[in-house]
This record gives sequence, C-alpha cells and structure tokens, in this order.
Amino acid sequence: MKFSWRVVVLWTLPALVIGFFLWQGAFASAPAEMTKNTASTRMTYGRFLEYLDANRVTSVDFYEGGRTAIVEAVDSELDNRVQRVRVDLPNSAPELISKLKDKGISFDAHPMRNDGAIWGLLGNLIFPILLITGLFFLFRRSSNLPGGPGQAMNFGKSKARFQMEAKTGVKFDDVAGIEEAKEELQEVVTFLKQPEKFTAVGARIPKGVLLVGPPGTGKTLLAKAIAGEAGVPFFSISGSEFVEMFVGVGASRVRDLFKKAKDNAPCIIFIDEIDAVGRQRGAGIGGGNDEREQTLNQLLTEMDGFEGNTGIIIIAATNRPDVLDAALLRPGRFDRQVTVDPPDIKGRLEILQVHSRNKKLDSSVSLEAIARRTPGFTGADLANLLNEGAILTARRRKEAITLAEIDDAVDRVVAGMEGTPLVDSKSKRLIAYHEIGHALVGTLLKDHDPVQKVTLIPRGQAQGLTWFTPNEEQGLITRSQLKARIAGALGGRAAEEIIFGAAEVTTGAGGDLQQVSGMARQMVTRFGMSDLGPLSLESQQGEVFLGRDWMSRSDYSEAIACRIDSQVRLIVEECHETAKRIMREHRTVTDRLVDLLIEKETIDGEEFRQIVAEYAEVPEKPQFAPQI
Ligand code: ADP
Ligand code: MG
Ligand code: ZN
Repeated sequence: MKFSWRVVVLWTLPALVIGFFLWQGAFASAPAEMTKNTASTRMTYGRFLEYLDANRVTSVDFYEGGRTAIVEAVDSELDNRVQRVRVDLPNSAPELISKLKDKGISFDAHPMRNDGAIWGLLGNLIFPILLITGLFFLFRRSSNLPGGPGQAMNFGKSKARFQMEAKTGVKFDDVAGIEEAKEELQEVVTFLKQPEKFTAVGARIPKGVLLVGPPGTGKTLLAKAIAGEAGVPFFSISGSEFVEMFVGVGASRVRDLFKKAKDNAPCIIFIDEIDAVGRQRGAGIGGGNDEREQTLNQLLTEMDGFEGNTGIIIIAATNRPDVLDAALLRPGRFDRQVTVDPPDIKGRLEILQVHSRNKKLDSSVSLEAIARRTPGFTGADLANLLNEGAILTARRRKEAITLAEIDDAVDRVVAGMEGTPLVDSKSKRLIAYHEIGHALVGTLLKDHDPVQKVTLIPRGQAQGLTWFTPNEEQGLITRSQLKARIAGALGGRAAEEIIFGAAEVTTGAGGDLQQVSGMARQMVTRFGMSDLGPLSLESQQGEVFLGRDWMSRSDYSEAIACRIDSQVRLIVEECHETAKRIMREHRTVTDRLVDLLIEKETIDGEEFRQIVAEYAEVPEKPQFAPQI
C-alpha cells in the first residue's frame, strides 16, 4: 500500500491540537471528587459550624487533603434523619480538628483520589506523544527519499554503500589494448587462485594495487576482470562515498567494508576514485577536512590490520596519483602501481575488435582504418564510438554498420552533434575563408599534420571545422611542429584579416587564439623552447591542488614573468606573420577553394591537396602508416 504518512500526519496534527483542547476541557469539567459518596447536597461552612455547635454532626470525612468534607448530620427538622452533605472547607481551619476532637465526633481523612490526576497527566502527555510520533514518521518517510533531510537521522548507522558482485563475469579477454597492465595483474590472479605457490617460498602477497590512468582507459573493467578470472567476489565502492556530512561515518563504512570482505575472503576490494579520500592530509587551506582524514586513517589502519595472506586484495583506481597521501603508497599498502595508458593504434584495434564482437559490421568497414583515425581515444571512447555507429545505422535503417556511419560517429564523438548547414550568406563566406585559411596554412607548412577534411557543416560549438590527421602516435613533438601548429591555428584569423580587412575580423577565432596562447606559453615555460633557455618555469597544467600548489605557485620573479610574456608574444607574432604571408601569397587558390567549399560543404584532404598543388608546391609529408 503506497500511502503517504506525510499527508496523514499533516492533516492529523491540526485535528490533534483541536482535540487536545477539547479533551482537556472535558477532563477539567469532570469534577474530580467523591460524588459517589452520595453527597449531592452542599452545606456552607458557616452552617456546618452551626451544626457542629448544635451537636448535630455525627461524623466528618475529609477529602482532597482537607479541602472538602462529607458531613453526616442529624436533621432535627426531618425526624432526626441522618443526612450526608458536602462541605467545602476554607483553606486554613486548623481549629476545626480540635473542635471535632473536643466534641468527640468521629472524623477521618481520606487520601486524595487520583484517577483524575492520572487522566489529567495523560491528557497533558498525549499531545506531545502524538506530536513526537508524527514527527518520527515524518522523518522515517523522508529518509526514504534520496538526500532527504531524514538522512541526518541515520548517520549513526553506517549504511553500507559498497556493492558486492559474487561473479563479475568479466574476463581478461574483454579487456584489450593495455597489455602491460594485464600482464602485471595476471600475477594478482595467481595470488588469489593459488596463494600456496607464493607463501611456500615465503613471499608476501601484495595487499594493494593502484591503477593509475585517465578516465575511460578500463581501470574498473580491469579490476572486474581480475575478480572474474580468479572467480572471487568483487566488492566495490567509490572514494567519494566514504566522505559524508558527519565525521566518523566514512570511517565506519571502511570498517564495514573490510569486515564484509574478511567474511568473504578470498576477494577483491575495489576502491574507485581513491583520490577523493586519499588526498594528502593537512593540505586543505584553513585546516584539513576532518572527516576525510579520519576515513583515510581508518583505511590505513584496516590495511595494516590484516595479514597479507588472508586473500583480500585491494585494488584502487585514480587518475591523479600525484595528490595521494604518501602513507597510502608505502610498501605494505598500495605497493604496486600499474599505469593504464590510453591505447596506441594496435591497442585501439584490439579494443575495437572486442567491442565489435556483438555488432554487425559491413564488410567495407576496416577496424584498422578506424583505429588510425582515432588517436587519443580511450577504450570508453571507442566503445562509445561503435555504439554511436550502431545507433546511426539503426536510424538510417541499414542492415549493417558501414564506413559512413563510423565516420559520422567519430566526428560526433570528437566534435559534438551535427548542426544544420548555414544558408548562403556573408557569414557563411567568412567562415569558409576562415576554414580554408587553417587548411591552406596547414597544408603548405612542411611540419604541419596533413589535412583530413574541411567542412562547413557545424558541429557542437563550431560553425566550420578543419580536421587534421596527426601523423604520429602522440610521441615527441618538435619545436618546428609546434610552431607550425600555432601558425595553422592562426590561419583562420589570418585569412579573415587578409580577405576582409582588420576591421571585419570576427569572434570566430576565439577558440583558436586560446589554443595558440596555450601552446606558445608552454613552449616558453615548460619546454624551454625560447630565448629564456632550457628552464622549466611552470609545472604541468591542471587545476591547482589547493594548499600544496597555491602557496608556491610562481617559482620565478616579476622580471622573469615579463620576459615570459614577451617571449610568448614573439612566438605568436612570428607564426602570425607566417600565416598572413601564406594567405597573401595564395589568394587565387584560396578563392577557388572557398567557392568549392561553399558549393560542396566538405572537401576531402586528398582533393584539397590536389587543387593546392596546381598553384603551389605542396611539401611532401610522411604518410601516416604505422605498423599494426
Ligand atoms: P575507467 O574505470 O578507467 O574510467 P572503465 O573501466 O569504466 O574506465 O571503462 C568504461 C568502459 O569502456 C568499459 O566498460 C568498456 O566497455 C570500455 N573500455 C575501456 N577500456 C577498455 C579496454 N581496454 N578494453 C575494452 N573495453 C574497454
Ligand atoms: Mg572507473
Ligand atoms: Zn578557426
């Protein structure tokens, strides 16, 4: 029965309030007395004294602590019949007792009848009790809602947030392209399966393995595969789930987790995003985070607390090993670090093979070609890519995924959703010149990556796009390559300036300029590629790790800062000149390419080069053909 307590309680509360007053009234008006004693008539105190003096009173019974009395008196007017009457006594009548004594009248005191008092007490309590019960249910109910205020009521009980999978069903076969990591972890599987092998020769089985790598490279998958291969249960929790509003909750979760794991050993505990709890302690500005530190301490204690050979292996994953507390990394804890890198071309091919197992691919599709087109893609990107391809295929009502869908899917994964093409207008022309500028400068500079295609079909934020094929596998990049990239990125703006004049340039180059500044600055401050000499003046980019980096941010003086700025400007100006020169010198071919682009919306790299070759010498570029 789905039935809302909140509503019921809210409705009943006002009713209770009203009811309470009515009820109280009822109790109050019910005379708390002794009417049972048949004293229906009342006698005034004065009259009672008169009766007393006239010796007509035979007995007196005091009630209510002496405030009332039932008096038996003989009524001479009614044949001396004995009458029982009630008398209200004034508060202070001590002389009454001695008078009664003198006269030898029997009197007695009766204890207060407290039924009335009990009812009164209940009447007073019932409202608060109902109120509290109502509130209790209110909280109980709202605590069922995620994030409801009732969570505060539960903080004492650590609700275990970890999940246990008895069988992950993932095998090493499902993980591809990260061979080194797999090999390292193969050993862990053996630890879990045949610990005797190691303990026989006195080896201590490692307790913790830290998987380090960018998001989507398959860390979670790998951890599951270890559990799957070894056939042991898999406990997983995310680092962020340890950290709660109340100090001590995280620590109790850690205890719970290890307790459960010990009951199920051998098993694997997987802690995702361990940097959420495992950050360096005492690194926060203005005091640390107590809760996190306690949780981390508890984690360290638990890891020390079990002997290496209980068969529990802890696998943690992070993409920021640099922020981890040193205590986590010392031997005996996460003493093994396994790096999980984005896959190279061979790895990408293997991952594509894994994920295309359950997909219908047209025979025209070459997984090698896809692998070649997707440098920098992680396993998750590739899985997503094939899925997007399959979705597009279904939408186009095709039998199997063809090259066209894959190409569209790559574009979509890299640059976002396709928009509708612009109608012919001045701004479309300007965008065409801008893109041709990028492509032409890129094509004519010897050290630039070859153009893959130029398109005017908007995607994501971009109105037009020029795609380049990086012709090497994310390896080392030379100074002249960087300069060529800067010039290529400035090609768009240069074209706008040369064709439309400095007054007509647009905001469209904003993104390009940001890239340009970034590259030029890194050349100066990180790679030692300027007149400042081989100095590393800034550490790797990335958000500042509060407290550690913030204080020691600039490791150079104001004077050096000035020189950095002027060196950056020098590089950018030089590349800008190169780009403008190229655009100035190739006006004819530029115009022809722009007309073609507006007509066709997309020009393929090969065609582009052929047209340019009719007007200028196109430098030969090493074709990108890595061995697979
Ligand atoms: P991470 O934990 O490193 O962020 P995941 O393990 O969660 O990445 O990967 C997400 C998904 O991407 C996986 O479920 C899998 O489908 C795919 N994937 C990632 N890396 C690989 C890989 N090396 N081999 C096969 N599939 C992968
Ligand atoms: Mg993960
Ligand atoms: Zn641009």
